[in-house]
Amino acid sequence: MCKKVWMCTWLKLWTVRVSNNLYPWQAGLWQSLAGRSQQAHAYLLHGPAGSGKRALAEHFAQFLLCKAPQSEQACGQCSACKLYAADTHPDLARLEPEEEGKGILIASVRALVAKILQTSQQGGRKVVIVEPAEAMTTGSANALLKSLEEPAGSTIFLLISHQFSFLLPTIKSRCVLQVCPLPSEAESVQWLQQQSELSEEQCRTLLALASGSPLNAQKLLHVDVLAIREQVVTGVKQLFKQQSSPSDLALAWAKIPPELLFDWFCQWAQLILRYKISEDESQLGLPDMGVVLKHVAPRAPLALLLETQDWLLEHRQKVLRRAPLRADLLLEGLLVRWQALLPR
Ligand SMILES: [Zn+2]
Repeated sequence: MCKKVWMCTWLKLWTVRVSNNLYPWQAGLWQSLAGRSQQAHAYLLHGPAGSGKRALAEHFAQFLLCKAPQSEQACGQCSACKLYAADTHPDLARLEPEEEGKGILIASVRALVAKILQTSQQGGRKVVIVEPAEAMTTGSANALLKSLEEPAGSTIFLLISHQFSFLLPTIKSRCVLQVCPLPSEAESVQWLQQQSELSEEQCRTLLALASGSPLNAQKLLHVDVLAIREQVVTGVKQLFKQQSSPSDLALAWAKIPPELLFDWFCQWAQLILRYKISEDESQLGLPDMGVVLKHVAPRAPLALLLETQDWLLEHRQKVLRRAPLRADLLLEGLLVRWQALLPR
């Protein structure tokens, strides 16, 4: 079964359906969760975005609520499974930011804590999914701590985190930590080929553009990302040849999601730095930019390169958090810095 949700990044340009079905690469993960002789009261599923943590948490939630699980799977037939399928299970709560990209409010945590103090309506467990856990402010995390440590009744918390390092140690220490890594490239490409009519090479390119995440690569199929990529790569070449100015390109790229641009420029800065140190041509990323990066690497002043990389990472975080920024000025600032990497 599926439910419609909005994605929390630029991929949220369209409605996607998040299934609670496990992905092929999650068999081992599932065994380590469902196969436990005794369930913990809090789990923290953490790993890169697009590794399938939400689907895993949903699958686990249904399993924990099911009244007659069989062979370490929810039965799909009992009243709890039917309520879950209809998204009306009264003992399942989801704690999320009220507004995308914002923090989880203390008021939301307090309302949740009051709810889980009540008796389970179905007479079984209560399950709370918190996503993303790093959206909890210090205040809201503190408001949740006592419930995490001593959950009321048989409540089980499933926290999902895409940015583990942002979580308070007090939250981490109260949960069973379950890392959810991305699948291997071979597994991802095989899965993508099953989901599309693309060739193996096209799947590899898509996967690279999605930073190795097969789920994000699948979403990229919905936009003409290969055409956007070509436009951006051409623009960067023109920028270095002084054929386009930063302000021209910022204008031309106005409709491209800034998150996508920052992803690519962060990757390119890293590749330039890596090549500058190693001179290993296999480390130049996708072929479309390889020649450019190889040309820039020996010429870019190291201090400037490091400074640019810091700036990119800092502003990428701001973009991901939807900080109030003027997109045109931000993009122009990025391109001015980028152009300076290749001194005239
Ligand atoms: Zn069931």
